[in-house]
Parts: sequence; C-alpha cells; structure tokens
Amino acid sequence: MNYFEDLNTKLVGLVGSKEGAISPTITSSASFAYGTPETAEGIFDGSVKKPLYSRMGNPTTAKLESIIAEIEGGVGAIATSSGMGATSLVCMSLLSSGDEIISIGGLFGGTYALFSETLSRFGIKTHFFDVDELEAIKSAVNEKTKIIFLESVGNPNMRLPDIKAIADIANESEIALVVDNTATPLSLSALKMGADIVVYSTTKLISGNASALGGCAVFRAIENEYDKFKTPRYSDIHKFIKGAGAMALIANGKKRALRDFGMSANAHASYQTMLGLETLALRVERITKSVEIVAKELKSHGLKVNHPSLASHPHYERYMSDFIRGCGPLLTIDFGSKEAAFSFLRNTKLATLTANIGDSRTLALHMASTIYRDFDNPTREFLGITEGLVRVSIGLESPHDIVSDFLAASKAE
Ligand SMILES: *Cc1c(COP(=O)(O)O)cnc(C)c1O
Repeated sequence: MNYFEDLNTKLVGLVGSKEGAISPTITSSASFAYGTPETAEGIFDGSVKKPLYSRMGNPTTAKLESIIAEIEGGVGAIATSSGMGATSLVCMSLLSSGDEIISIGGLFGGTYALFSETLSRFGIKTHFFDVDELEAIKSAVNEKTKIIFLESVGNPNMRLPDIKAIADIANESEIALVVDNTATPLSLSALKMGADIVVYSTTKLISGNASALGGCAVFRAIENEYDKFKTPRYSDIHKFIKGAGAMALIANGKKRALRDFGMSANAHASYQTMLGLETLALRVERITKSVEIVAKELKSHGLKVNHPSLASHPHYERYMSDFIRGCGPLLTIDFGSKEAAFSFLRNTKLATLTANIGDSRTLALHMASTIYRDFDNPTREFLGITEGLVRVSIGLESPHDIVSDFLAASKAE
C-alpha cells in the first residue's frame, strides 16, 4: 500500500479507542494516589507500572508517547513541554561539563542559541558545520564528543544533509546521532536511517493547528550485544543499562532531565497533540506536494525561491533520492531587500505572519528582523539569513490560491 495511505489507517486507529470514550482521556492530575504503602514502594522501585507524579509521566502523555514511538520505530518516547524541552532533555541527560557537540546544518534559532550561548556557560562546547563539510566533521570528533546533532532540513537555509553518510560517521566514531526531525515527521524515518535519538517540536506539523506547545524525544533500544552507549564515553548511562536494559535511554532521560529539570508535557497539550497526530499523514502528503507546486510556479514567475525540489538547488539530487516523500512545509523567498520583503508581507492576503511553521494555514515571516535579529552578521551568513529573506510555511490551502496571492503581493507596492 502507499506509504501515507498506510499511515492514515494506522494513525486514526492508534489515537481512537474501540471501547468507551473514543477520544483520548485527559488525566488532569498532577499527582496520583497510591492506595497502599506497598504499591507506593513498587511504583518508586519500578516494579508497579502506575503513575508516580505528573512531572515523571502522565497517562494522557503516555498514550501520545507510545503512538509517536510506534510510528517512529523507537523503543519509547518522552513527550516534553516544547520542542526546545525535547532538545534540552537530550542534552541534559547525555552531556557533562567538558563534553562537546558537533552540530550540522540548519539551524533553528532556539537550538543555535542553546548550543552557542547557554550550554557554553555550563562548559559544553559546540562545533558548527554545514551539511556537506563531512571531512571537517570527521576531524572534529574527539574523546570529548558526545552528540552529533543534525536538523533534517536546514531551516531556513533549505539545505539537505546526507543523513546516511553522517550516520556512518557517528557509528564509526561511536557517537550518539540526534536528529531534529521537526520539519519532516513521517516523510523521513530518521531512526531507520541511523539516528539514535529523534527530537520533535510537536508544536509544528504534528499538532498542526497552533493549539498546543509540545515536544517529543524518541529513542532507539539499547542492543543486547555491542552498543555505542556501552562504551566508556557514555559511562553515566551504564547504570541505566543495568537497570532498564533496552529502555535505558528512556530511564536516563526521565531521571536526568524530566525529574531534575522538569520540562514535562501537560495532559491537555498531549491531548491536543493527539488530535493533530490523527490527521498528520493526510496533511504531510498534501503539504509536501503543494510546496513543490508553489516553489515551481513562483520561480517560473521570476521570484527568487529556495527549495530543494528546484533543479537549480545544490541538493536537488539528494532531494530526489533521499527525500522522496518531500522535505516538509518550508520554502524561502529572497526579495532582495527588507523593504521589498515587508511590502510582500503587508500585501499578502493569504499568509499569516508568525514565527511558527507546519500549520494548517500558510505562514510567512521576515527572518532578519525577527527570529535572527539578535544574531551578528557572520552568524547570519552561516545560517543563510539575507536582508530580504522571507520564510514561508505552506498550509492546506489550494496551492493555486497561494501562488496567485503571492504573485499579487510581490507585485503590489
Ligand atoms: C520550532 C522548532 C523547535 C523548537 O520547538 P518549540 O516547540 O517552539 O520549543 C526546534 N526545532 C525546530 C526545527 C523547530 O522548527
């Protein structure tokens, strides 16, 4: 069966129940009564599988986690209060002072600031690379490297990584590969392509309607035999491997990050995220087709569009071979100047101006004056932020309506 068709069948079945309430139950309780001291003891030592306290896990959130883990092919997942919460969870549960991150491609502004400004204050250094600097990436690996971090699609530079080649480097050097797959849920199976951990901002495509902030980290199982997490580099995790076996990365993430930092998801957001998840395959398939149509049409009318589906894009071949289900909802248009970009944004009747992406509605934003306003010029250049750059996230509207609105808005004064 067609890949997305199959997922449409699967997702509605996973979210709805066949008995009783069909829609997932919202368990809006911060704490849970244990009943007996024996049960309390069992819950705390892990032998009784009941909720302990909502910072460590909530039944509504657990349902969301199990669906995302299943769809992604992971052993388990941890939902968080936001996408940055998911990236923080992974960093805080794997890294110690003195460790290093190799960050490739992108990069989402919040992640860039976390790595360059915040984690650096805790003694964690990040080396930043473009997706194609494979030799430099290999040479940057050293005994302190703990994470290779990769964004599935450069946002907003639209560059595509060679994920298999980067996964090979991570495996050969026995380093955890973390992929931020926010822009490409379902389209790209990062765990299957060699990632160890996948992070999402579920705020974006997975919810899809701006109703809930959320994030999720999905983990692969620890292998029985050889596993990179059993090497001395990850000695902090060894006690979790002893206690939780295949589920060690979940246990480590829950204890070292959810319990100690508290970036936990809340039940209401998890519920709303599941409502979005139910229609995710339907939306992703439509949106990724529309992006290609809009990119091609706008380009043929002379707009400076950046999208890998265009033959002029440096990663066009990679798009055609490794991204056969598209690369998410984004494209960018360079209007050449801030004035021209602002004129377009004032005149579009269809796009909603906001910093979000992956919504049902088409969204647009001028990059240099908003998300990247605090970044200096060399950093903007590295991230591909030019003065006239507008990022567009294509929604569910007719692609032909989007094209005519954008053409009219780009011509208006
Ligand atoms: C939005 C976004 C994040 C952060 O997610 P929040 O839910 O806003 O915290 C991380 N990575 C990417 C690629 C994003 O687009």
